[in-house]
Amino acid sequence: MKEITNCPICEKGDFNSNIVCKDYTVSSEEFKIDQCENCEFRFTNPVPVESEIGKYYESEDYISHSNTSKDLISKIYQAARKSALKKKHQLVSSRVEGNKLLDIGCGTGDFMAHCKSNNLIVSGIEPSDTARSFAIEQHSLEVFKEDQLQKWTDGSFDIITLWHVLEHVYPLNERVKEIKRLLTDNGKAFIAVPNCESLDAKIYREYWAAYDVPRHLYHFRKENMTQLWEKHGCQVEEVLPMKLDSYYVSLLSEKYKGSGILAYPKAFISGLRSNLNAKSTGDWSSLIYVISKKG
Ligand SMILES: [Zn+2]
Repeated sequence: MKEITNCPICEKGDFNSNIVCKDYTVSSEEFKIDQCENCEFRFTNPVPVESEIGKYYESEDYISHSNTSKDLISKIYQAARKSALKKKHQLVSSRVEGNKLLDIGCGTGDFMAHCKSNNLIVSGIEPSDTARSFAIEQHSLEVFKEDQLQKWTDGSFDIITLWHVLEHVYPLNERVKEIKRLLTDNGKAFIAVPNCESLDAKIYREYWAAYDVPRHLYHFRKENMTQLWEKHGCQVEEVLPMKLDSYYVSLLSEKYKGSGILAYPKAFISGLRSNLNAKSTGDWSSLIYVISKKG
């Protein structure tokens, strides 16, 4: 395990213990989430060392990187993901002129394949060997390991996307710097992350599925994302909602609570409450940040 002694965003060293969460999908181990006293950024602490994190992704239940549709939750997730692919492509193509797209953490390449069929030139980064091979073999995509990031020249991409990926990345500041370097001057990055200020996070507390410890190293709030990107000479241009996530995350959270047959109606109510609350606060269950380089 590795103890974090400096806040990944503001670099200060005084933290409060915020919450203790259990890893419900793989290890059943408990992990502490700390909150920085200075900037209130929340992060899992301590975290497994990077060379040990692989085993925390080894689960049939960890569906983010596979296409298995076994139970109803997986089916709902897959259906939502399909409609989300379309929306994500519409979003990026409506905000950026150029057509060179890099998807970091592309998984099995579904989003890349959808963009490729809509005439974008796509590249991907995926650390999981299984997911990467699937993307290359099944979708004929160009997908690389993470070390490829340093090999591309400055300004190689008009669009860089990270769909629920940044919260998994160990070298957070280095990755943000790399994204800025790889973007063209008019390019934009699209970063989707869970929002731990959402009402569903507050309802489920330690059961909130999007804490997903220890795979989620960081638990972003809007203010922290702004601080992080401004620290590296970028700006948050827009913050957009992902409206289906509250239902999916609530359903998983109910499952972790052991709600049985009542999980579905309860999750529906929590998801709806979270979205109604977000209409006035902007704190949707997950948010997409549109990032550009500063002047
Ligand atoms: Zn801080």
